[in-house]
Amino acid sequence: MNGHFSSVGEKPTEAQYEHGIQVIDEDKEFNENINAYLQATNVADAGFNYHLISVFGSQSTGKSTLLNYLFGTEFNVMSEVERRQTTKGIWMSKNKRGSMADNILVMDVEGTDGRERGEDQDFERKSALFALATSEVLIVNIWEHQVGLYQGANMGLLKTVFEVNLQLFLKDKQSTPRSLLFFVIRDHIGHTPLSNLRNTLIQDLTKIWSSISKPAGFESSRIEDYFDFAFAALPHKILQPDKFEAEVKNLGGRFVTGNRNSKNQLEHGEQELEGGVFLPEYHRRIPADGFSHYANGIWDQIVHNKDLDLPTQQELLAQFRCDEISREVLKVFDEAIAPLEEQQAESARAGKPVVLPDLGKIGSSTREKCVKSFETQASRYHKKVYSDKRADLEEKIDQRLKTLYHGQLSAAHKACVTSFSDAVSGAVKQGQKSGGAYEFAEIVDAEKTKTLDTFRNEAQSLYIEGVAWTNFKPQYVLFEKELDEVSARLRKEEMRRLATRVERWVKSRLGDSVGLEFNKLGSGRGGAGAPENGEKPPTEKDLWDRIWNLFTSVVKEAEGRFTDRAKSFEASEDEVEVGLWRLRRKSWVALREKIEEEVMEGNILLKLRENFEDKFRYDEAGVPRIWRPADDIEGIYTRARESTLTLIPLLSKFKLSTTLAPPDLPEFIGHQPAAAEPEDEDDLTPIGGVDEEEGKSLEEEMTVLSESKRQDLVVRFKKTADGVYVEAKRSAIGGITQ
Ligand code: GDP
Ligand code: MG
Repeated sequence: MNGHFSSVGEKPTEAQYEHGIQVIDEDKEFNENINAYLQATNVADAGFNYHLISVFGSQSTGKSTLLNYLFGTEFNVMSEVERRQTTKGIWMSKNKRGSMADNILVMDVEGTDGRERGEDQDFERKSALFALATSEVLIVNIWEHQVGLYQGANMGLLKTVFEVNLQLFLKDKQSTPRSLLFFVIRDHIGHTPLSNLRNTLIQDLTKIWSSISKPAGFESSRIEDYFDFAFAALPHKILQPDKFEAEVKNLGGRFVTGNRNSKNQLEHGEQELEGGVFLPEYHRRIPADGFSHYANGIWDQIVHNKDLDLPTQQELLAQFRCDEISREVLKVFDEAIAPLEEQQAESARAGKPVVLPDLGKIGSSTREKCVKSFETQASRYHKKVYSDKRADLEEKIDQRLKTLYHGQLSAAHKACVTSFSDAVSGAVKQGQKSGGAYEFAEIVDAEKTKTLDTFRNEAQSLYIEGVAWTNFKPQYVLFEKELDEVSARLRKEEMRRLATRVERWVKSRLGDSVGLEFNKLGSGRGGAGAPENGEKPPTEKDLWDRIWNLFTSVVKEAEGRFTDRAKSFEASEDEVEVGLWRLRRKSWVALREKIEEEVMEGNILLKLRENFEDKFRYDEAGVPRIWRPADDIEGIYTRARESTLTLIPLLSKFKLSTTLAPPDLPEFIGHQPAAAEPEDEDDLTPIGGVDEEEGKSLEEEMTVLSESKRQDLVVRFKKTADGVYVEAKRSAIGGITQ
């Protein structure tokens, strides 16, 4: 069927609308496909750049014929033979002629007093109302011989138009759109000049205007408050076809945009129009893409005899269209953003949040594209509705971007923290590999700057000019705080590494020098080879003094190393204090371990034997004795043995020869610093006398050999000494020299 476009899915083409489209059919039904037609004819996207013309006039006065000649349309024309009404309802077609205004839509309205419709004045009134509510220009088609016939059918129609017009403006006082009544006088013979015909018509119109009943408040309104007039005359189409066509062509030239020429305002509201008939003030300001919905709404009101309220209709249209445009725009938004949302959600679910590349760019450009596209289409509608709906749209878009952006920053936060701590650890490891020459504080500073930059760049890339919520300063501050916490943790780890290094150094120093001190025990003359510098040669009696001095000086040096290094990476005083306290404790434990190793059964027995043998086998001058039977072997043996035996009680207790008491270990180690945390203690060995609650006294801590071990050692040593003695005795008797 002509004008009914029903196949869905493909873009309609103009070819499917040869005769235009039937806007309202004979059953007063509004055609749902108007928008498809406007799309097919490329009017839908024209915004306000389109025009609507309706033609009125009695049945069979050549209206359709005129439109077809004028606009190149193909409205059905009554066949010369059948004489039957052809135009049913209201048809619409786009102008097909060039050199006219853009996008002229012409509505061919069913003529009045047609035989077919009988007395149906109702439809006439309704279609007049519809045409007036939508059209800028109303062409009134009239035979020349009808001019002046005030009682004629045309005049009845005009009366209707005027009444209906007032009815429309009852509700729409503020905008009061004007319309142009364009009289086209047909079969103009030429005897009566057009100016005379015009005067007659204007007189009639004025008469009609005064005769209509005007609503309250409009009693004194004048016809020219609402209408402009224009006139044209056309020769008889059949009798003077060439002239007819030439004049129609002339007439066509007037359908361009124009201006009001106020200087030339003629009597009775007839306007001298400069340029063309389309004055901006005639335009109903319904965007082309909303026309079909608007017209449908209007027609609905008209058909149901409701008071036509154009402002309300326009607001409803605005709501409808803004929502529709918003949905379309959101679809575009969705296409760009939904995949990113999915990716983000998925990675978060998997516990590996990703930083989406170029999110800021995509987000802001999509947002701008969508808002701009909404603005372009929707801003043509009712201003308040538009701005409300725009705010709604922005809210929706921003809500989603906000979630996305926050997810992005939390992913960036995580990634940056990880990469920061990895980078610092990596650099430290590298530094250790290359001999430990690295500056922890510098590494941390450099990596922190780098990481902060990365995070800041990400946060800034999400910023959208003029959009307050895209300022992510708080997130940045939070991130920086976390970096500081991570730095503190890493520094603590570095402190531990440093402590371990220093402890190892202490251990090795103690191992060497304490071992050396014990070795001296092997020499029975209190350290053979006395120092040449005149110092008092060390004696067995001050063994512990020497070890304590050695210990404290090694620890002091270690403390110095630790402090210097810790300060270099900006450790706090508290941290240093805790570190030193731990170092002293661990050093003491290391010393204890070393001493224990030295006094282990086999080791100490060997030392005692050496000590004894030294005293027994060498004389005071250090010359080896050669036993002879006359020698007082027994006496020498007893002295040497007793001398060595005095070492055992000496070795049993860590005691200073000066005070005859253990060194003040608690004083040396010091109190536990207030800044020490539980984790600073959990790898520490308890120390008697220092950790009182451990139930071990300082006395016990300083006990090197227990009573039973001591006795055992005495017994075993004596046996060993006895062995040496027997051997000496034998060698003396046997004359065997050693
Ligand atoms: P409508 O009902 O007003 O649309 O009239 P149509 O365009 O269908 O034409 C009705 C009849 O009038 C047709 O037979 C046309 O040939 C004829 N007609 C068209 N234009 C003219 C004209 O300028 N003068 C005369 N006398 N007849 C015309
Ligand atoms: Mg017709």
